[in-house]
Amino acid sequence: MDFRISEEHLAVVDSIEKFARKEMLPLAQVLDEKGEFSMPLWRKMGELGYTGLLAGEKYGGSNLGALGTTMALEAAGRAGADQGTLLSWAAHMVISMLNIEHWGNDEQKQKYLPKMASGEWIGAMALTEPNAGSDASSVTTSARLQGNKYILNGTKMFITNGPICDVVVVIARSEAGSKGASGTTAFIVDKTMPGWHSSKKLDKMGLRASPTGELVFDNCEVPVENVLGEVGMGMKGVAFSGVNWERTILAGHFLGGMEFNINECIKYAKGRVQFGRPIASFQTMQHKIVDMAADIEALKLLLYRQAWMIDNNMPCIKETALTKSIMGAMMLRNADEAIQIFGGYGLCKEYPVERFYRDWKLATIGGGTAEVNRDIAARFLFK
Ligand SMILES: Cc1cc2nc3c(=O)[nH]c(=O)nc-3n(C[C@H](O)[C@H](O)[C@H](O)COP(=O)(O)OP(=O)(O)OC[C@H]3O[C@@H](n4cnc5c(N)ncnc54)[C@H](O)[C@@H]3O)c2cc1C
Repeated sequence: MDFRISEEHLAVVDSIEKFARKEMLPLAQVLDEKGEFSMPLWRKMGELGYTGLLAGEKYGGSNLGALGTTMALEAAGRAGADQGTLLSWAAHMVISMLNIEHWGNDEQKQKYLPKMASGEWIGAMALTEPNAGSDASSVTTSARLQGNKYILNGTKMFITNGPICDVVVVIARSEAGSKGASGTTAFIVDKTMPGWHSSKKLDKMGLRASPTGELVFDNCEVPVENVLGEVGMGMKGVAFSGVNWERTILAGHFLGGMEFNINECIKYAKGRVQFGRPIASFQTMQHKIVDMAADIEALKLLLYRQAWMIDNNMPCIKETALTKSIMGAMMLRNADEAIQIFGGYGLCKEYPVERFYRDWKLATIGGGTAEVNRDIAARFLFK
């Protein structure tokens, strides 16, 4: 395994870290408090090409691949950028734009990727429904062929970027009466098509700068040329193909956040004096920081290995499931210990550590819960 990336890609990662420290870190607390996605910040990221890291160069992207993009998001997290903004950024690139890059035909790529890579259009992916969460293959949103259009009806739930997206990859049931993953198709739905809207923005405990919402499709008219991939392969093709990417790259900014958090803890522990000594001189405090560092190193190796496997076209469902089954616990441990090191101040909003405690619960739920990922891993271990 070789975790080196090209000098050119490394330069992008470095520039993102500097940008995040200068432009994103100062906004982190206020965006969380207001529960607001910053469009001016997004536009700046677009101008610098950061919104298209995974798109091909011919579409205006930088083709950073899985490892480079994981490192880029990690760098932004390490610089202290707000985790909500990073989640929205990652979702735009990984679960929306990348699906079009992987499954789109030339016309679809020409039409959507340049706009998405430049950040002009924000992307989302809508799979989950109010009654289809972990059992995602049980989606009931219907897609009925009528002339040269599909008519979509149904509701999608918990959609990252739902309230702000211009284009969304939707998985719907195109074969009436079918069950499970079969009979589903992916569609590219954009804001010019009538019959869909974001009905409500969810008020979440964490990742508050990432707008999550419900999308309603009410006789939404989608031209047949907007079928993404093959008819009938929505789950089995498009949705399943993105799982490893999602479970790896989206975790990059979590890893970076853990690195930011430990640095804050070390700084604080050196400065906070109790019993006439910096608390960093107490062995129990040092051990907490060592445990945090061990989790960070372990998670880094797991994610880099997965990203490397993806870039080398190696299957890694078992690896991503195993990592996802423990990653949330590692992150929550990091957040918990950080607050403990900060003592009472750790509970206060003037310090960043409490935010991670709220932000990181998502990691045991989104993109496949820890329990479901244990089930997937068990299938490999017991086969
Ligand atoms: C902030 C956020 C952003 C999201 N973004 C998106 C997005 O952009 N697009 C999208 O399509 N979806 C998105 N999701 C949805 C996410 O993928 C689902 O929340 C997740 O798959 C779990 O589904 P659920 O919340 O309905 O929980 P449920 O499936 O109802 O699970 C509830 C509990 O039951 C457990 N459980 C369920 N089935 C089993 C089983 N077989 N064995 C053992 N335990 C089980 C679960 O582990 C969990 O603890 C997002 C969710 C959140 C919270």
